[in-house]
Amino acid sequence: PVRVRFCPSPTGNPHVGLVRTALFNWAFARHHQGTLVFRIEDTDAARDSEESYNQLLDSMKWLGFDWDEGPEVGGPHAPYRQSQRMDLYKEVADKLLAGGYAYPCYCTTEELDARREAARKAGRPSGYDGTCRSLSEEQKAAYEAEGRASIIRFRMPDEPITFTDLVRGELTFTPDNVPDYGIVRANGAPLYTLVNPVDDALMDITHVLRGEDLLSSTPRQIALYKALIELGYAKYIPAFGHLPYVMGEGNKKLSKRDPQASLNLYRERGFLPEGLLNYLALLGWSFSADRDLFSVAELVEKFDIADVNANPARFDLKKAEAINADHIRQLDLASFIAACEPWLTAPHATWAPEDFDQAAWEAIAPHAQTRLTVLSDITANVDFLFRKEPVEDEASWTKAMKGEPVALLTTARAKLLDADWSSAESLKNAVLAAGEEHGLKLGKAQAPVRVAVTGRTVGLPLFESLEILGKDRTVARIDAALA
Ligand code: GLU
Repeated sequence: PVRVRFCPSPTGNPHVGLVRTALFNWAFARHHQGTLVFRIEDTDAARDSEESYNQLLDSMKWLGFDWDEGPEVGGPHAPYRQSQRMDLYKEVADKLLAGGYAYPCYCTTEELDARREAARKAGRPSGYDGTCRSLSEEQKAAYEAEGRASIIRFRMPDEPITFTDLVRGELTFTPDNVPDYGIVRANGAPLYTLVNPVDDALMDITHVLRGEDLLSSTPRQIALYKALIELGYAKYIPAFGHLPYVMGEGNKKLSKRDPQASLNLYRERGFLPEGLLNYLALLGWSFSADRDLFSVAELVEKFDIADVNANPARFDLKKAEAINADHIRQLDLASFIAACEPWLTAPHATWAPEDFDQAAWEAIAPHAQTRLTVLSDITANVDFLFRKEPVEDEASWTKAMKGEPVALLTTARAKLLDADWSSAESLKNAVLAAGEEHGLKLGKAQAPVRVAVTGRTVGLPLFESLEILGKDRTVARIDAALA
């Protein structure tokens, strides 16, 4: 049975790279009717925060992910927060030391730096040089007597490590490229290099799907896994698959700190979770050659890690928005109305709650649904219906009121008064006729009307908007503009 994990560290805000990793693990688990383990890698007290932990959980739920084991749901391998598993890591580290799989290393940072620098200058590999690999008991005792601190360092095998990456195929790492590495700090704190594979082993993880930035950890973890198998902690080495880098502006790796990478940004702008997930799935995977738009259910149905492309993926905000827009179009009207709700109430609403008009909103909603790219745009698109007065936008006003809008508006007002207010077509004909009298095409004629009534130069279809706003309020706003 497939058992995969999503194991973020609770540092900072969730970012799109993390979400893509979660998505592919989740889709893989669901596709294979396997188990998704959600584990929190919070062993770095200096960088982890409870706030970030809560945000992670909240984001996962907003995205619609569920997990079979982990925080809030528990499971046979609890606890799922590494900060609560320290005894286990200590036990494993002691066994690794006792079995000779790891050794205490007394080299100081200054010594390591100096030797690394010398190796670099001499063109030799600059990783750990093995100084403490085979210290005698006397040498260790002497270092201890000197008061030197020691870290625990894992002993890498002297032969190359080969594995078949699920995305990249067969990869080989030579010992020169993978020197012995630290697994426990001098203060006894276990490192990612230890706790991550130990938990993968103890939690029976079958497939490790994670970002390419962790590819260099994999040969080390495979070597450690072999030791864990010999010590009885692991049964097998999991399969590894490394997801491609995501490139941002200027073809540079999208960094966690890049504003474009922040999940909260997409949430605040009103991306639908389905729209965002659809787009993020395309970062390294494709549904088919001729189809970019799909539901999460379709993704699960079709997802195969073997189809993930090893080449870097390019993050394209315009495309993300276009896909989100398509998902907005696909909602049924009731879902669209419900999805917009947060943007029509505090803190987004720019009108008093009692001025909100549900019937007007439901009447305009279908026109908005076919036009929005992100849900947050709904506020400005419908505010003219609920505000006592339209927004005052100096720039729009100046732009639309060029020429002779007073004459045009006066004519339009008169014709609108005579129009049939149950028909947007009739309102359009009124403005069209007013334009003709002043030698203006419809586009030019409707601009000052739109600004007078909505305060903006662009918006939802004007005549439907006027019809929903109603004759009295429309005429009053034109009067106010003329005054
Ligand atoms: N906690 C690690 C990270 O957030 C997990 C890496 C892994 O999947 O092995 O980068």
